[in-house]
Amino acid sequence: MNVLRIGLVMLQGARHVHVAALERASAESGIDIEIIELRKASDLEAADPHAIVLPGGESTTMRLTGNGPASALLPVIFEWIRDDPSRPVLGTCAGAILLSDPQDGGVPMVDAAIDRNAFGTQADSFQTTLEATALQREFPGVFIRAPRFTHAGPNGEVAAMLGDEVVGVRTGNRLALTFHPELSSDAGFHRWLIETTSALVAEA
Ligand code: GLN
Repeated sequence: MNVLRIGLVMLQGARHVHVAALERASAESGIDIEIIELRKASDLEAADPHAIVLPGGESTTMRLTGNGPASALLPVIFEWIRDDPSRPVLGTCAGAILLSDPQDGGVPMVDAAIDRNAFGTQADSFQTTLEATALQREFPGVFIRAPRFTHAGPNGEVAAMLGDEVVGVRTGNRLALTFHPELSSDAGFHRWLIETTSALVAEA
């Protein structure tokens, strides 16, 4: 089978932990992957990825860097995502903010509205067990200066719940999580990405 090419957006933030989580998910699922780091617009074309990960960090910095002339990555990433809703995308925390609130005049890539830093400051970061609806099991949720979904539209399927609050939304194969699955020992959401991608590539 083809090696899956997973593009990792390297604008800023928690990138290397995603590499480790993707490698764990690959080993667990027995699906070979190549992780390709994306920094500038031309990287996307060269990589021709099957799936994309948008890490957490600071969405403001990511927008500045990613829209700046040296990178110009963000507009082409958004175009790649919008081109086909079946393309697998995992956005965590700041990545979920970019998917839900692209601020480029175009439609959100995940059908939800989001509010930044809505759990409070860095000191209000916390860890707790949540219900990963998309995985049909519990999941260790790490929330760091996390955003909050304020609304999910008709195309926003609930992917994770913290009590009665939605903390994960899926539109097509785009998954936006307000927490950091890459910082837990559970590679379940990264497996979801790899397995979804693998099934699509097998079908093509
Ligand atoms: N507070 C950050 C933002 O607004 C998100 C935090 C995170 O990604 N851990 O972009």
